Amino acid sequence: METILLLTHSEADGSLPKAALEALSAAKSLGGPVTAAVFGGNVDAAAKALAGAGAAKVLTASGDAFAQPRYATDAAAATALAKAAGAQLVIAPATSRMARVAAGVAQRLGGKIDTHVSQIADEGGVTISRWYYKQRIEAKQKRKERPWVLLVDPGAYPASAAAGGSAPIEKVEVAAPASRTTVTGVKAPTSGEQTIKPDAKLLLVAGAGWTKKQADGKPNPEKAEQLILGFLRASGASLGSSKSLVDQAGEGQKVFEFMSHLNQVGQTGATPRHPKGLATCCHGEEPHVVGWRFIRERRAINLDANCGWARGKADVLYVADAFAVMEKVNALVGAK
Ligand SMILES: Cc1cc2nc3c(=O)[nH]c(=O)nc-3n(C[C@H](O)[C@H](O)[C@H](O)COP(=O)(O)OP(=O)(O)OC[C@H]3O[C@@H](n4cnc5c(N)ncnc54)[C@H](O)[C@@H]3O)c2cc1C
Repeated sequence: METILLLTHSEADGSLPKAALEALSAAKSLGGPVTAAVFGGNVDAAAKALAGAGAAKVLTASGDAFAQPRYATDAAAATALAKAAGAQLVIAPATSRMARVAAGVAQRLGGKIDTHVSQIADEGGVTISRWYYKQRIEAKQKRKERPWVLLVDPGAYPASAAAGGSAPIEKVEVAAPASRTTVTGVKAPTSGEQTIKPDAKLLLVAGAGWTKKQADGKPNPEKAEQLILGFLRASGASLGSSKSLVDQAGEGQKVFEFMSHLNQVGQTGATPRHPKGLATCCHGEEPHVVGWRFIRERRAINLDANCGWARGKADVLYVADAFAVMEKVNALVGAK
């Protein structure tokens, strides 16, 4: 059996990212003992969570130098932990912080890396599954080289539950390397409402139909905005969009301020992993539907009985006016 390490950072408050517990499930699925390692400014809660969720041993590297996500310090901490564990397989969650340094860590360890891993199995040797060509082709891969760093995509595994374990926690001293980067603060784009929620049970997709002329001969984007935001607030759903809708900004048409290209689902957009999806005012064309690959239950509302969803792309198609349906749905959800 290979030496398996689950490698992660902690969050700013010392807790564990949910994706780390998912990657731990991936590591444990191989059946062997899993050492866990965590780095960050404060790692106490994260180390305890790993110790209680089935890790055989937990290594930590902490201190002020490792509090901020910064390439040099994160790569140094992660490399030192992987070396201390003597790991042949280094399994890490694909958070943006881990994804940024993982290739550098593989290089420093003299190993190889694979990203976007959606499954790890022992099939006469460790085998990973990942998708190519915008989730159209699934491949199984093995590698001879070790150490092998694997970035597991969030949402591919259930999070490891607390199992009442109390594995030993050991601190690894890591000297912070010289760094030219000082983090002075965070500047985020001024977007209105946070509409992308990867952990939501439901994805609501809005298409360009919301801004098109309606039965009364006029577009009604203000009403559309009110219905979409009303539903998001009442249901906690995450918001996806078609390319046509988010592209309208460049064409001088009405754009919803709570939506950006980051909401776009599809071949040239995101491939989210929500259990359920509801498409509204969106045609359901192939480049868009590619992004629904991992949505398990799909429903759509469209005026057009001949739209793309009707051709096997949705489990249920409501041939109806989405303005009327969502108004009724919001009243029902709001009344709960
Ligand atoms: C290389 C390439 C990559 C692409 N990648 C992507 C991608 O990643 N993601 C993506 O989304 N698209 C992508 N596209 C574009 C894609 O092919 C479609 O053009 C786009 O998805 C259409 O968006 P839409 O369905 O919102 O708009 P439309 O095609 O304009 O459809 C609007 C729909 O709204 C319906 N509608 C209107 N009013 C109502 C109402 N009151 N109630 C109910 N329904 C109503 C209409 O019947 C219509 O079906 C790509 C295209 C190419 C060529």
